[in-house]
Amino acid sequence: MSTGFQGKFHRQNQLSRFAKDLVRRSRSHCELCDKHGVKLEIFEVPPIAEEPSVDGCLFICEGCRKQIENPKKMIPSAWRCLNNSLYSEVPAAQAMSFRMLKRLAAKKEHWASELLEHAYLDPEVEDWANAAD
Ligand SMILES: [Zn+2]
Repeated sequence: MSTGFQGKFHRQNQLSRFAKDLVRRSRSHCELCDKHGVKLEIFEVPPIAEEPSVDGCLFICEGCRKQIENPKKMIPSAWRCLNNSLYSEVPAAQAMSFRMLKRLAAKKEHWASELLEHAYLDPEVEDWANAAD
């Protein structure tokens, strides 16, 4: 993978081609918290694949992205939405929801532990969720 400014720019360019598909898939709702009428951004679910793909991306709001990228700023009550997004039709949303629930469970949020305990995902999605923190 290329690195540095050029590499990042190239990546953003590649990702921007997915915007139309993501707008359609999400119906312009944040794919995690379901917020509508806010600016949505393309977020690649880590670990980042060498070749970007729509399936590896989520279309999410700024609030969700900031808390994903900065776990210390996570507001547990803002993530009750995971109850629904865990069973989204989009595997990337399932994987990211599972991962966020694990973070919440580690913060002793019992509702999150309970959701995880009863979660039923494809093994591949679960592996994906566990492939990063
Ligand atoms: Zn959101």
